[in-house]
Amino acid sequence: MKCVRCLTDNASKVAEAPDGSKAWEVYFCNRCDFVWRSSEEPEVIDPDKRDPWFQMADVEVEDIPVFSPVPPLRK
Ligand SMILES: [Zn+2]
Repeated sequence: MKCVRCLTDNASKVAEAPDGSKAWEVYFCNRCDFVWRSSEEPEVIDPDKRDPWFQMADVEVEDIPVFSPVPPLRK
């Protein structure tokens, strides 16, 4: 299925409501690692209503710099 963030066909359902009610489902995109729940607001799950700044269509995921590592915890 289509990812709502990178708009590629790399998303799939990874979980659903355990009572079988289909009250919610969770999807994961294995290209951009976005995870979303079907019951979230349209501003999160509708590509037409999402903030364009957060979209990753036409972004090469491999070119994104790696975030700074988290320093070790203080003792
Ligand atoms: Zn994606």
